Amino acid sequence: MRASPLPNPLQPRYNNLMETIETGRFAPSPSGYMHMGNLLSMLLAWLDIRALGGRMIFRMEDLDPARSKPEYARALADDLRWLGLDWDEGWPEPSYSQSRRTALYEEAFHTLERQGLVYPCYCSRAQRLAASAPHPGEEHWEPGCPCRHLTAAQKAELEMSGRRPAWRIKTPDQIMTVTDGHYGTFSQNLQKDTGDFIIRRADGVFAYQLAVSVDDMAMGVTRVVRGHDLLSSAPRQAWLIRALGGVPPSYCHGPLLVSQEGKLSKRLGSLSTQVLRQTCSPEALTGLLAYTAGLIPKPEPVAAGELISLFSWDKIPCRDISFEAGLPAL
Ligand code: GLU
Repeated sequence: MRASPLPNPLQPRYNNLMETIETGRFAPSPSGYMHMGNLLSMLLAWLDIRALGGRMIFRMEDLDPARSKPEYARALADDLRWLGLDWDEGWPEPSYSQSRRTALYEEAFHTLERQGLVYPCYCSRAQRLAASAPHPGEEHWEPGCPCRHLTAAQKAELEMSGRRPAWRIKTPDQIMTVTDGHYGTFSQNLQKDTGDFIIRRADGVFAYQLAVSVDDMAMGVTRVVRGHDLLSSAPRQAWLIRALGGVPPSYCHGPLLVSQEGKLSKRLGSLSTQVLRQTCSPEALTGLLAYTAGLIPKPEPVAAGELISLFSWDKIPCRDISFEAGLPAL
């Protein structure tokens, strides 16, 4: 892994190369141990970029100091290595951890501010989770936040009373469309469907939507592959990247693994990698993931590298993959 200087978010590194190097990323949050669902997303991201002959970046999304733990970061990396999913640059190089990249987010924040797109919000009750990716049930927004229309005098009064604002971005009343490589066209009217979303919390922590957009742009990411619960974030991210002067990556969302209770979560201990690694080999687990994703006909042990030539998005279902019948024997 090579060290690289912090790139300028407004000047993607690969823009001036004749030939674009396809660049993917692992972007986990170290807020718990990975489970089967996370591993499936990582496997698909890795196969997608390796099948294209591209390079893989490993970015640690430890934006929220209250939720991120170094031991989870180490465990995530160890699980990826154990499964044979390698990366070409990234963690543990410090500049690939979001907690070390705040200067870039600050620069992007001021770029948006200079365009008149940012305003302080004094009313949000829902800022706590803004630094995390909004998985289902975690999306908080208030359409038509009244703070958009505060006068300078009203802001001064609120500041005087000691209120510290979060920062929202003014979303346009226009349709933003992304063409997802797996789910097809996905459109949102940002103002109506997402509202003016938070890009920085009142405690100064930058929000997921801003950080991920800046990073994908600055790191020259051309392929974003992740679970489809984040498809609804893609139009916001593509719009932010354009507002910062960049070119959005291609988005390709994959199916989720679901249990009877719904999407797998890091709290579902039995499918955590910590437990699975005690009972099965990396090849057995990879075979099971590949089988659930439609890449092989039977859940047989297989090394991740052997799947590269078999990989095609056409084989992968769009519907969520259910574990209701229990795990096949490993
Ligand atoms: N860090 C996010 C998560 O673990 C994923 C962000 C992304 O892939 O855009 O949910």
